[in-house]
Amino acid sequence: MQKPDKVYIEETVRYHPLAEKIISKLNPIRIEFVEDWRKIGDTKPLTKRTVEDKNSLALAEKKGEIIKSIGRMESGEYYLFHEIDCTYDCEYCYLQYYFQTKVPVIFVNRDEVLKKIEEVLKVHPHPYFHVGEVSDALAFDHLTEFSLDLARLFFRI
Ligand code: SF4
Repeated sequence: MQKPDKVYIEETVRYHPLAEKIISKLNPIRIEFVEDWRKIGDTKPLTKRTVEDKNSLALAEKKGEIIKSIGRMESGEYYLFHEIDCTYDCEYCYLQYYFQTKVPVIFVNRDEVLKKIEEVLKVHPHPYFHVGEVSDALAFDHLTEFSLDLARLFFRI
């Protein structure tokens, strides 16, 4: 797993436990604090962003819907927006062109994701959750251990 060259951290999550955990796993690492992950690289042309920002990582807070119903299946079908983009660079992958910013982002407010999943399960006992529509489901799992959070949640309920 390639280590990012640099980590951008939104000011509002600099002391968030998951942000601290990720940084402790990556240290030593260059860090830049930013106000809003969506503005990272926005003064550079896209080609330059692709070269310079792809090997970075951003830690941020997801505002708005962190789980979205896509309403395709009666049993409930949801996309998770806990991360976006991917650290890899597969030529055929639509994620290469999907976002304006080229920095993969980990949203650290994971507790909200887990809470929302629990809420969904009260309404839909057998739903589908897509964890890899706007990100790679496992690209950052060594940093976040989100798979363990999910396993604990489903073991408990
Ligand atoms: S999401 Fe999957 S296919 Fe796309 S770049 Fe990452 S590893 Fe490759």
